[in-house]
Amino acid sequence: MDKPDREQRHRHRMQRKKEVVDKAIARADKEQGLLLILTGNGKGKSSSAFGMVARALGHGMQAGVAQFIKGRSDTGEEAFFRRQDGVTWHVLGEGFTWETQNLARDIETAQRGWAIVRAMLQDPSLHLVVLDELTYPLKFGWLDLTTILNDLKNRPPMQHVVITGRAAPEALCEAADTVTEMQDSKHAFRAGITAQKGIDL
Ligand code: ATP
Ligand code: MG
Repeated sequence: MDKPDREQRHRHRMQRKKEVVDKAIARADKEQGLLLILTGNGKGKSSSAFGMVARALGHGMQAGVAQFIKGRSDTGEEAFFRRQDGVTWHVLGEGFTWETQNLARDIETAQRGWAIVRAMLQDPSLHLVVLDELTYPLKFGWLDLTTILNDLKNRPPMQHVVITGRAAPEALCEAADTVTEMQDSKHAFRAGITAQKGIDL
């Protein structure tokens, strides 16, 4: 194929593509608070959620973060976002279940945590709420899914909520607007490399 012909075909193809994309963009004209789920076994769930917190702050929006299960207290995101105006940061878990080894206390901690989340879900001044690792207290039955779905449904109409954690329950994904499943194709941990600052924490 000679060069001018190839360029012309490319131009036509791109033109057609632009028409399709422009039509799709014109169709998507609704404004709405979104519920996003970041789940799956691959890396990138929490860091993606914190990326959205950074985006929101960049627009002068207010964000609330609740971390449900926390294995460590020295993460870069916590250190960074606690220094920013416009973010409220709550650590609601006491650590992993195999560390606390006290079921009644885990349930009580999770439920006390949800009361704090509920207050955020009733606060229209919060434009974005991140519920990091919420799927674990759900999976362990420490929180009632119906209550959570109800509180999410009754939040301010323009408030965005991002939920992270492996094995998100089906009913939660059904209620969501955007669901992303991180796929674990490879992880450095399996090659014996420990969690790296700036990447994993
Ligand atoms: P990140 O916070 O890096 O976005 P994540 O939220 O997707 O990760 P979690 O299940 O919350 O993943 O686990 C948090 C920690 O475990 C991070 O240090 C992350 O790098 C690591 N991790 C995530 N996925 C895997 C995996 N498939 N194998 C081993 N370690 C993982
Ligand atoms: Mg995570």
